[in-house]
Amino acid sequence: MAVAAASGTVVSFYAATSSSKRPRVRMTVRSSSLSVTPILTNLQNTCATPLPTLRRVADAITADMRAGLAVDGGSDLKMIISFVDSLPTGDEEGLFYALDLGGTNFRVLRVHLGGKEGRVIDTEFERVTIPEELMLGTSEELFDFIALRLETFVQKEGGRFHLPQGRNREIGFTFSFPIKQTSIDSGTLITWTKGFAVSGTAGRDVVACLNEAMERRRLDMHVSALVNDTVGTLAGARYWDDDVMVAVVLGTGTNACYVERADAIQKLQGQTPSSGIMVVNTEWGAFSNGLPLTEFDREMDVASLNPGEHIFEKTISGMYLGEIVRRVLVSMADCGALFGESVPEKLSTPFILRSPDLCAMQQDKSDDLEAVGSILRDIFGVSVNLSARKMILEVCDTIVKRGGRLAGAGIVGILQKMEQDTNGLLFEKRTVVEMDGSLYEHYPQYRGYLQDAVIELLGSEISKNVIIQHKKDGSGIGAALLAAVYSKYK
Ligand code: ADP
Ligand code: MG
Repeated sequence: MAVAAASGTVVSFYAATSSSKRPRVRMTVRSSSLSVTPILTNLQNTCATPLPTLRRVADAITADMRAGLAVDGGSDLKMIISFVDSLPTGDEEGLFYALDLGGTNFRVLRVHLGGKEGRVIDTEFERVTIPEELMLGTSEELFDFIALRLETFVQKEGGRFHLPQGRNREIGFTFSFPIKQTSIDSGTLITWTKGFAVSGTAGRDVVACLNEAMERRRLDMHVSALVNDTVGTLAGARYWDDDVMVAVVLGTGTNACYVERADAIQKLQGQTPSSGIMVVNTEWGAFSNGLPLTEFDREMDVASLNPGEHIFEKTISGMYLGEIVRRVLVSMADCGALFGESVPEKLSTPFILRSPDLCAMQQDKSDDLEAVGSILRDIFGVSVNLSARKMILEVCDTIVKRGGRLAGAGIVGILQKMEQDTNGLLFEKRTVVEMDGSLYEHYPQYRGYLQDAVIELLGSEISKNVIIQHKKDGSGIGAALLAAVYSKYK
């Protein structure tokens, strides 16, 4: 899973920065703005995603999907069997909980379902930020924290939420990290991603980890469905719309799942469910073939907690976009005196620049880019002149454009796989791709680039059938809906 090196000049510019004698005081700001231009040009060339590149990526995703469905370990894409072979129909009734361990946040939710007539009678949720030390602590500490917050939330139950006598509360547990699912309510963690490095969880059943923590608190709840966040998103959207076939998450990390024909999954080895369908979690964050990568990506990967892994995620998802930009700016500051005579100290802090910052800067449409200047001052503690602000915006746009367009190519890779297997399944009728995650939700430029790539790849006629949508609360209740579908009281 090697990361391709960038084109020559980008590499050589970056290589120059490793010299211990960095030329920091050397030129006026005006001439410096000229000298960073070749770095930008090289970056734009290396990150370019013209149609042939998009097509290559979409085709590689399709091929990797097939290889991953044939046999475990057949490709970068794990193509994990979710054990979800039934999706919500609207008939679901009762009180159900959902628990979402995503990345930066942890969410608990309860929903009262009233069947076809009543639908979602009521829903309540709470969002909890995961303390940083828990992301690097022990498994027990993390799950004890989750159980504690769950208990506090359950204590506030009341009003229109009622649990029938003699029943345990049932939870749909959304766990958005790679899992080897062993049944609808069990699965072992393959590896932590997205900056988590909790000891003692890898190789363990995460449902057992949660159950043990709940037992320690004497909480009588149990997990009826363990679902990936993409699967929860799909289920939540399906509840309202039968045409939803694919779900994609673009937040801290990224992933996608889709509704597969069970007979197309060789590794099920004939154990096909009677419904004839199976939701497959692609784990596409691990994709790596043919991506247009730069030296900055390679350096970031080497420094990451999971080097060599999750390359697609590191190219397109929210956790990494700002860090790639920062690394380019370091190069521009060192080789082109982007910030004038001295390099701001804070520029060397990894992950100091985040995707919400890029997004906020890209919304500044004023001539003097005052908002960009003030954001940069807040982050780096220095004033940045207008030509440097423009340059920084160009860098942001280059990285965000590559990310959005590659995400679009990924979606087309999935759609074309489905269409190749069942002619007319998607492209001759309405098909919905449900999106979730704050990067997609809050970054209009990213969304636009993604949509452009889908249209370029599919053509304007076919892409009219493909609805890429984001519904605000679909994903939240998806896991609770699956807890209802797989309730032990049914
Ligand atoms: P998670 O991925 O942890 O489940 P989210 O879907 O809310 O949670 O994604 C959070 C990530 O989305 C943040 O880490 C950040 O990278 C990105 N993000 C959040 N807000 C914005 C924004 N306004 N613009 C761009 N990216 C954002
Ligand atoms: Mg999430």
